[in-house]
Amino acid sequence: PRKIFSGIQPTGQLHLGNYLGAVQKWTQLQNSGDDVTYCIVDMHSITIPQNPAVLRENIFEMAATMLACGLDPQKSTIFVQSSVQEHTELGWILSCLCTMPRLGHLPQYKEKSRTVKDVPLGLYVYPVLQAADIMLYKATHVPVGEDQLQHIQLTQHLSRIFNTKFGQTFPICHAMIDNHDAARIRSLRNPAKKMSKSDLDTKATINIRDAPEVIVEKIKKAVTDFTSDVTYEPEARPGVSNLVVIHSMVSGTPIEKVVEEARAIDTGRYKLRVAEAVVEHLKPIRLAIDEHLAQKNDLIHLLESGAERARQVAQQNIVEVKEKMGLGIYR
Ligand code: ATP
Ligand code: MG
Repeated sequence: PRKIFSGIQPTGQLHLGNYLGAVQKWTQLQNSGDDVTYCIVDMHSITIPQNPAVLRENIFEMAATMLACGLDPQKSTIFVQSSVQEHTELGWILSCLCTMPRLGHLPQYKEKSRTVKDVPLGLYVYPVLQAADIMLYKATHVPVGEDQLQHIQLTQHLSRIFNTKFGQTFPICHAMIDNHDAARIRSLRNPAKKMSKSDLDTKATINIRDAPEVIVEKIKKAVTDFTSDVTYEPEARPGVSNLVVIHSMVSGTPIEKVVEEARAIDTGRYKLRVAEAVVEHLKPIRLAIDEHLAQKNDLIHLLESGAERARQVAQQNIVEVKEKMGLGIYR
C-alpha cells in the first residue's frame, strides 16, 4: 500500500486554496485503504514571527477544521509536528546533507523573505525540515498544491543522497498534484499570486470560517479584467478563470458547464453566483468547526493519540538512520 503524508501550517485559518488544493483531497485519500498521516506543522509556522497565544489557538483551530472538512482520526493519523521530536532531529541530519545553493532559489523562501526585514535562518532551511517530515515516515505519496512541487523535488534529492551514501533507506516520494485547476487557487486581489494564509491583504483570501456577507463582499471586489463575459482562459484571464475554478470545485460542476451556464450574464452578476455557491458549500464546515472547537478536551485527546501513533514509526526510522550514519551508541 501507499504511504501518504502531508502537512499544513497553523499560520491562520484554512482558506479556499488550502481546502480545494489539499485538504479536500486528503479526505478522499483516507478511504483509499492506504496508510495516511496528516500533520499540523507548527515548527514550520515559527519561521515567521508568531504570537504564542495566537499560535496555540491556531493549532486547535486547524485540528478542528481538519475534522470539520471530513478527516477521520480512525482512518488518518492526525498530530502536531512539535509533539514528535524526531522531525527536528532528522531535519538537522538532512541539513548536513544539503548544500546552501539548493535552498536560496526556492519560491516560497523568495516570496516570504521579502515580507520580513531580518530573514531568520529557519525560513531559509525550512524546506529541509519539510523533507524530514516526509522522509521520517518513509512516505511514498505527498498530496499538496502546486506551490510545493519544488519542495518535493528537494525531498527526492535528499532521499537519493542519503540512499547513495548510507545504503537504500528512503523511497523516492511522488507529489500528488492531480487536479491542476485547483492546485493553485489565486489571490482575489492579485491573480498573479497564489492565495495564502499569511497574505497581509485580508481581501485576497476567502477563509473557511468567513461569514456569508464577508464572502460576498470579497468575491464582489475580486480583481478581474475589462472584459465582461465569463470565460475560462487561465493564461489570458487569470482573475475570472480563478472564479470559474472555485465555482466549479465547490458546486461539483465541470468547468465547461459552469462557463456554459454563465453565457448570458456579465462578470458582475457572475460574481454573486460564485459567492452563493461558496457560501453554500462552506456553511456546514463552518458550523462543524465551531462544534469541534467547543470540545477542546476531545481535540487534545485526539492529537495526543495521533502523536503516539506517529512517534512509533518515527522512532523506528530515526534509529535506522542514526545506525547507518554511525551516530550514537549502537551495538
Ligand atoms: P502560508 O502563507 O502560511 O505558507 P499557505 O496558504 O501557503 O500558508 P500552507 O500551510 O503553506 O498554506 O500549505 C498547506 C497546503 O495547501 C499545501 O499542500 C499547499 O500546497 C496548499 N496550498 C496553499 N495555497 C494554495 C493555493 N492557493 N491553491 C492550492 N493549494 C494551496
Ligand atoms: Mg505556504
